Amino acid sequence: MLSVAEAERRIRAAVPPMETETRPLHLAQGAVLRQTVVAERDQPPFDRVTMDGIAIGATAWERGERRFTVAGIQGAGAPAMELTGDAQCVEIMTGAMLPPGADGVIPIERVTLEGGVAVVESDYAYAAGQNVHRRGSDYRAGDPLLVPGTLIRAPEMAVLASAGSPEVAVARRPAVAVISVGDELIEPGRSLADYQIRLSNDRAIEAALAQRGLATVSRALLPDDVATLTRHIGRLHESHDWLVLSGGVSMGKYDYVPEILAALGIELQFHKVAQRPGKPMWFGVSNAGKPVFALPGNPVSTLVCLIRYVIPAIYGSMGANMPECPIVTLTEPVEFTPALTWFLPVELRWDERGGAHAVPRPTNTSGDFASLSGTAGFVELEAERKVFPAGHPARLYGW
Ligand code: AMP
Ligand code: MG
Repeated sequence: MLSVAEAERRIRAAVPPMETETRPLHLAQGAVLRQTVVAERDQPPFDRVTMDGIAIGATAWERGERRFTVAGIQGAGAPAMELTGDAQCVEIMTGAMLPPGADGVIPIERVTLEGGVAVVESDYAYAAGQNVHRRGSDYRAGDPLLVPGTLIRAPEMAVLASAGSPEVAVARRPAVAVISVGDELIEPGRSLADYQIRLSNDRAIEAALAQRGLATVSRALLPDDVATLTRHIGRLHESHDWLVLSGGVSMGKYDYVPEILAALGIELQFHKVAQRPGKPMWFGVSNAGKPVFALPGNPVSTLVCLIRYVIPAIYGSMGANMPECPIVTLTEPVEFTPALTWFLPVELRWDERGGAHAVPRPTNTSGDFASLSGTAGFVELEAERKVFPAGHPARLYGW
């Protein structure tokens, strides 16, 4: 059976890149940058005052001057005033441009203003150039600030805005059809018989994609019926970029999904991975280049496969430079004898020295999704080992 690493490799090789589109900044959070962003101006664009106070010239101070005539008041956003005489000052605000002739700022708390004169505390120590953020000391006009592949979060958004363009080139978000398959599945809000099951996987998938701003999602619920499945999966394939199915992919008599996907011309890349949960996972690509993931319907399997494969595949298609998953260590030994990679749900604890520790929270079968709530994600434990001691390091995949 295919290993997890090989499954991941085949997905990466098969998934085509998403196109680039231009989006206004307010719709770009969570998106993956597709351009280099260069500085519009020097940063700061002028010698920027960093304290409310008085701007003075060093020469007068060095001569022993402690009383300065106030030549005017200058706020942020006002053109610079000028110091004409050397015993002058400008009463100045944070964010204002340092006036020509001044070279530093004394905080207002250390100054008394009386009748148009600023008197500095007698024991105040002034250092030339103080409280000024020098022009170009962060970066220069034309410097590259963000590279393609950057994920746009709050700090990157601030850089984008400061570069002056109201729009940005980012990877297009795929339209993902989330297709739940099963005769027993009933939407929340609808009455159900004791042999029926609440539909929940579609909401979990949608939440995982939406919280990352990764896709536009539409949900569909289909019965275990060949004709209906064929018609609707075919239609959803036409109207979406990616398909994520859950359920109907195992070895049961009514698990029609693999044969239907094959009949629809979706080329199989693999079926089954040496992993638990999620062994029956199916992956293929249509002749239109659209990725199709068919995940086992057990809720833990669906969610683990989504996080382990589908989400990295979408980031990959967007060209994202993603950070590696963090490594955490197990707080207690665990044992797993099947020759499969084990995805083990964990809670996280931090020690005082910054170590991250994973507390195993195994589920009661892969149908036990309620016990995932409160966990941070799951760790990946390699197939080649059966006993994992306390302190064993493992990669953490967060929900
Ligand atoms: P299957 O993969 O179709 O054999 O389904 C495995 C188990 O997962 C069954 O108990 C299903 O009822 C359950 N299941 C399948 N799809 C969903 C879903 N969308 N939401 C919740 N449970 C599901
Ligand atoms: Mg089923």
